[in-house]
Amino acid sequence: MKNIPKSHPRYHSLVTRELISEAMKKGLVHETGLIAHGRGEAFDYLLGETTIPPAEVAEKTAAAALLCAANPVISINGNVAALAADECISLAKSVPAKLEINLFHRSQRRIKKINDLLQNKGVKKIYGLNPDARIPGLESNRAYCSKEGIFTADVVLVPLEDGDRCQALQRMGKTVITIDLNPLSRTAQAATITIVDNVTRAVPRIEQWMHVLKNLKRSQLEEMVKEWDNTKNRRAVMTFLSKRLNSLS
Ligand code: ATP
Ligand code: MG
Repeated sequence: MKNIPKSHPRYHSLVTRELISEAMKKGLVHETGLIAHGRGEAFDYLLGETTIPPAEVAEKTAAAALLCAANPVISINGNVAALAADECISLAKSVPAKLEINLFHRSQRRIKKINDLLQNKGVKKIYGLNPDARIPGLESNRAYCSKEGIFTADVVLVPLEDGDRCQALQRMGKTVITIDLNPLSRTAQAATITIVDNVTRAVPRIEQWMHVLKNLKRSQLEEMVKEWDNTKNRRAVMTFLSKRLNSLS
């Protein structure tokens, strides 16, 4: 990272690549996490690497949903731990929400690495280490979760989630908030609230919105969540994207 000059026009993108790459070498990120990152990066490039207006509204609504939740849980995978651990910890404190390690390519070694990272950053209780429940409708060890955590959560924030698991969580009747730069992914289509933004920008913004919204009445927050139309918002993202691409061509 020392070798990347701050003046480089792609500075942030290059630093993020280094972060992901280092995290893979340390065993936090699965090698396929690098490919997932590349897909996200490509969409971020198209979006202009900024929080676009439809994402901002989604972040606001996500904050309202988290504030109304009885058992909110933030799901942490390798890429999220590498790119936004501090941001997720801070959001979890503010809500307050539980943090659960939930991996697509599950291994005890990687769970331990992510757990150590979170613990070293001061998190006392981390869920998902000894799973005691399964998400119905999912095969293999992708389904493992914690009964007190994701299994019984009413609102789950699952950044960079896989489509199958997002759909399975939906079928359990949960409010599923996702952060996914690809508005076309199955996750983006299946979630209750889809935030098309980079996880590094989205998580702090959700937290900022929480501080703004916490003074509202509960009924007002519930109304915001009830009124939310995810399909309409995703359409607004697509319109933004096509207009931007048109303006650049
Ligand atoms: P799906 O299973 O939902 O159809 P997928 O199989 O195409 O999606 P996955 O590897 O399951 O993709 O999930 C990774 C998702 O995370 C991708 O849609 C990618 O665009 C997105 N992504 C990667 N990096 C980031 C990031 N930093 N911030 C937000 N989203 C990201
Ligand atoms: Mg997938």
